[in-house]
Amino acid sequence: MRVGVYPGSFDPVTNGHIDIISRAARIVDKLIVAVALNAGKNPLFQLAERTAMVTEDVKLLADKGASIEIMSFNGLLIDFADQVGASVIIRGLRAVSDFEYEFQMAAMNARLNPKAETAFLMASDRNHFISSRFVKEIGALGGDISHFVSPNVAAKLRARFSDAGE
Ligand code: ADP
Repeated sequence: MRVGVYPGSFDPVTNGHIDIISRAARIVDKLIVAVALNAGKNPLFQLAERTAMVTEDVKLLADKGASIEIMSFNGLLIDFADQVGASVIIRGLRAVSDFEYEFQMAAMNARLNPKAETAFLMASDRNHFISSRFVKEIGALGGDISHFVSPNVAAKLRARFSDAGE
């Protein structure tokens, strides 16, 4: 059985992430979406909130392909991949600007754990430009984020920014 891990911060999960998840689920037998603690990145949402949002969005996927599990992790990705028996690490590519960072990370991970291959998937035209960072920036300024995230995530973002404004 081929197990894949799709790691990320998912702060918050966007339609771009969901696009990659649905695509990745078609090429592995089991996909583990791994939500990273990433405390150093100073996330807007707590780990439990980010994990819950991914879980809610994945439930809405009509065609799940493989079985999809949502987990959180802290520490080195390759250690986590080892623990869950994953042989494939999935990453998404948006623009050329992602390439340098992703290329270096894949090379380092390959050196640390040669058993796991990194596979890159591209989001579809409609979703490839979406990033959690811009969704947060637009949301913070009161812009319309409904094209980029699910209604559940949009509501969570609105609540977070209205709390911050009070
Ligand atoms: P990280 O902090 O690990 O970069 P992110 O949640 O920002 O976590 O992204 C997780 C993965 O999803 C990364 O490989 C990123 O390039 C990819 N990704 C994010 N948004 C998109 C998108 N719109 N299209 C394709 N890939 C994406």
